[in-house]
Amino acid sequence: MTESLFGDESPDCPQCGAEKPLPLLYGIPSEEMIMAAKLGQIALGGEDGPHSRRAWRCQTPQCNYEF
Ligand SMILES: [Zn+2]
Repeated sequence: MTESLFGDESPDCPQCGAEKPLPLLYGIPSEEMIMAAKLGQIALGGEDGPHSRRAWRCQTPQCNYEF
């Protein structure tokens, strides 16, 4: 059973309607997560955040809405 880091389905931004928001991950990032963040595939929410929480960050520069 494989666990996808990025997930398959992403919601549209409720603020501006943009598709494909970045997965926003909390907790101490693994090397894989750091690499993915550098590649712009995910956003890191910080080490002190709730580990189980999963959120999204809009990729639109003027928006950057987190939901
Ligand atoms: Zn947005």
